[in-house]
Order: sequence, then structure tokens, then C-alpha cells
Amino acid sequence: MSVVERDEERGARARANGGAAEDHDRIAVENPATGETIAHVPDMGADEVAELVARARRAQPAWDALGFEGRARVMYEARAWLVENRDRMLRTIIEETGKTREDAIVGDWSFICDSLGFWAKRARRYLKDERVRSRSPFLLGKKLVVRHRPIGVVGVIGPWNFPLNLCFGDAIAALMAGNAVVLKPSEITPLSTLLMAEGMRAAGLPEGVMPVATGRGGTGAALVDGADMIMFTGSTATGKKIMARAAETLTPVSLELGGKDPMIVLRDADLERAANAAVSYAMANGGQVCTSVERVYVEEPVYDDFVARVVDKTRRLRQGAPGEPGAVEVGAVTFAPQADVVEDHVHDAVEKGARVLVGGERGAGPGRFFQPTVLTDVDHSMKAMTEETFGPTLPIMKVRDEEEAVRLANDSEYGLNSSVWTRDVERGEAIARRIEAGNTCVNDGLINFVAQEVPFGGVKSSGLGYRHSGGGIRKYTQPHTICVTRFAPKRELHFYPYSARTSRMLERGLALLYGRKRRR
Ligand code: NAD
Repeated sequence: MSVVERDEERGARARANGGAAEDHDRIAVENPATGETIAHVPDMGADEVAELVARARRAQPAWDALGFEGRARVMYEARAWLVENRDRMLRTIIEETGKTREDAIVGDWSFICDSLGFWAKRARRYLKDERVRSRSPFLLGKKLVVRHRPIGVVGVIGPWNFPLNLCFGDAIAALMAGNAVVLKPSEITPLSTLLMAEGMRAAGLPEGVMPVATGRGGTGAALVDGADMIMFTGSTATGKKIMARAAETLTPVSLELGGKDPMIVLRDADLERAANAAVSYAMANGGQVCTSVERVYVEEPVYDDFVARVVDKTRRLRQGAPGEPGAVEVGAVTFAPQADVVEDHVHDAVEKGARVLVGGERGAGPGRFFQPTVLTDVDHSMKAMTEETFGPTLPIMKVRDEEEAVRLANDSEYGLNSSVWTRDVERGEAIARRIEAGNTCVNDGLINFVAQEVPFGGVKSSGLGYRHSGGGIRKYTQPHTICVTRFAPKRELHFYPYSARTSRMLERGLALLYGRKRRR
């Protein structure tokens, strides 16, 4: 039986039972763009999570034994399933997040299609055995091999802003490495993960290899207790709790956390492109992107021109419930408390002297919206410039020069994405190297995320570890070093029993080796 229950089914069951369906241990899933409850999922307790982990542990060895080719076949089948079922998947994502169809296509669906092919093709190369020659004289003539062994059961805990990409998306590399995965989607948006699990079954993923644990924070905490490794994407506050809990069992964690991404616009920038990017990358997905442009620093001579362009473009944005392709640019606020955070940041800024040039208010219902908002006259005394807003706001600050821009960009507890805008790309790259962040674009923003060949991660409070690239799959494995001795004497010089003769030989030989001035 499916764990998700659409509300029409639920009504029928309640009528058949002669009354209302019970609500305990179940979580209502809302469509934020309409305010309607669309489904209910179980809030799983610790015992149920332990059972899912145990089931995944039993299924893992056979999945690993399938080899890269066997596992890749499932990934390619899953990609074909996603393309065939894209309307169903897109509708599910849109319904549970309130985002636009375009945001769902670019940010979730197409990325996952790409990712399935990427890891299916690359996993073998990234994880192939490494033959190593040691420089140690003790290893002369011996064979050294490092293999990358799956860690076992990986727990993937995801947020609500990209429910397919940042939950199932992180499972793909873990699965290709030969692990079983227990997925714990956000309680706000569990439906696309459940649908993807159905797709994986249809693609031939063996039973038990990727169960889904629906539930709130407690469900996630139980997964931390049971899994062999945790891949977490979410807020910095939760990331710290997870790391503390994982310390109890020495469980490794990879944490992708919050951001407050700066954009630096220099006087020689292509202002039209920079303004287009600022608006798109601040408002995309309703501003609910960890790598959104969250604050802009513009050099004085071009500040007025840049602000005028941004204001004009922001005014033209259409916001509302997602409908036909191209219908609106900005969708709903997915998570109810996030609307309060956005409002608080705008009010705090205004109280401290900021000006609202566009928006600044909650949008009209019945769904939950916040107007695309442009703020100026902002500074670092304001939450809008220092704390993660995670909404459709764009605060712009005037700076004297490059030095001030870099200093302010780095004046943050976060360090996820960032960007520098200038026609002098060499200077742009030099400035990029001074930014304290996991990623910096020159004349672009956040698009680096889709380059899965390179690491994506955060520094400071933005995370620990990274996803994508070779390291992004090796983190789901344990290096297993195998040392093979084939031809060797019965007794090595360092074996027992010690004798004065062999000890002296050993000491002299080593002194000769390390006594040379030549580099070795
Ligand atoms: P959140 O931290 O509230 O929740 C994330 C997940 O953690 C949910 O599934 C939740 O149920 C679970 N959880 C909550 N408490 C837990 C606990 N004690 N133990 C285990 N699991 C627990 O985050 P959110 O509000 O869903 O997501 C928004 C945040 O995610 C923002 O800060 C955003 O910047 C960040 N984010 C980061 C990235 C990145 O790649 N760096 C990407 C997207 C979102």
C-alpha cells in the first residue's frame, strides 16, 4: 500500500469507516499556492525508522553485488521513467511547493534527469581501484591497492525548497557507490520523494534498497541514530543538531546548509546583464534557494543606474499560483514560518532606515505569497543583510570601491555561493579568489550548481563537505587499503627477534636514505 494518501482517497476511507479518518501520527501536506490540504503522510517513529534501516541493510549487499553496470541500468531506466512521467512529477512538485512550472523544470526535474545519467556514467571511473606505489622502504616490492567500499546505509535528509533535487538527488551517487539509502524528505514536501521511490521501483530498483521515512525532525533524528552516514541539506541550526547527535555514534556527516550569497557589481560591469541576473537569481524559486542572490554591493558610479534597472525589472514580475507554462515568474512561499522571516527582515530593515522601492508586503491570498521586493539604503546592522532571508527580496547597498565590496561580502557567518560582475574577467577572477565562499561566479550566479563535474559546498556556517565531482561520490565510501606481499624473505629486518646486527643495518640504511640533501 502506498504510504501517501491523497485527500480524496482519505475522504472515501473516512466515509467507509463511518466517520472522520484519524489524524494522529499523520502529517497534512498543503498546497501553499492555494492553501488546500492535498495529502497526508505518516509521521514515522523511531521504531519504524529502525525497521527501514534494517531492511535497507539487508538489501544492500545484493545491490552492491550488481556492480556499476547493473546499477547504472536502473539509473537510466529511472531517467526514462522520469521523462515519461514528467507531467505527474512536475504537478506533484508544484502542488507541494507552490513553485512555478519553470522552477520545477529547471531546479528539480531536469537536474535529476541529468544527475541520473551523470552518476550512472561516472561512478565507475570515480570509484575505480587505485594502484599506489609507496615511497617507504618498508614497502619495497609490495602491491598497494585502495578500493572504495560502500559505507552501508546512507541516510539522506532533505529540505522543502527543492524536494526532488535535494533529497533523492543526493541519493543517486550514494546508490551508484553500492549503498542502500533511507530517504527522509521534508515533512512539508514529502510527495515528490514518494513518487520518485515509485519510479525507482518501476525502474527495477530492488525492494528495500531505498525506503522512504516520512516524518518530522524526530524521524530525521532516528535516522541519524541508525544510518552509517548522513547526507543532510537544510538549515544551519538543524545541521548543528545533526552533527552533535551523529557524534554519539561517530557517524560521518556531510552538511549542506544555509547561505547569504553576496553579489558584487563593479563599475565596469555589463549592467543590463547584471541587473537581469540579480532579479532572476534573487527571485527564482520564490527566492527559496540556498544560493539565491541575498545581498548586492554596487560601486558608487553605477549604483543609481543598476538600481533603476532592477526596480524596473522587478515591477514587471508576475506572481501568483502556478498555472500554464510562462504564466507567472514568482510562485508561493512554501513554508508558512518562512513568510514571517521574510516579513521580519523587511520590517527590521525599514525600521533601521531602509527604503522599499518595490513590494515589501505579503501578497494576496488564498495562497501564501510575498511580493518580490527591492530594498535600498541598507547596511549590515539589518537582518536583511546578515541573516538568511530565503524569500523574494533583493537588498542593494552602495559601496565606495572593490575593497569595501570584498570586505562586506566576507563580513558574514555564511560562505556558500557568491558572484563578481566586471568586464575585466581577469580582475574578476582575482577578486573571486578573495571571497570566503565555497563557490564564486564571475559574470554569472549559482549556475555552477549544475556543473556536477566540480565540487559544490559551503564554508563557514554554510556547511561541511560537498556534493558533486569525484569527492561527491567518494564521500559515500570508505577507503579500504589492501597491501599484498608476494615475494618476500621469511623474516623482514624489523621482525622479531631483534638483534644488534639487523638493528644496526636498519638504522644505517635509513640514515643513508634520509641523510641525503637531495629531495626525495
Ligand atoms: P530544516 O533544517 O528545517 O529541515 C531540513 C530537514 O531536516 C527536514 O527534513 C527536517 O524534518 C529535518 N530535521 C529537522 N530537525 C531535525 C533533527 N533534529 N534531526 C534530523 N533531522 C531533522 O531546513 P528547511 O527549512 O527544510 O530548509 C531550508 C534551509 O535549507 C535553508 O537554510 C537553506 O539555505 C538550506 N538549504 C541548503 C542547501 C545547500 O545546498 N547548501 C540547499 C537547499 C537548502
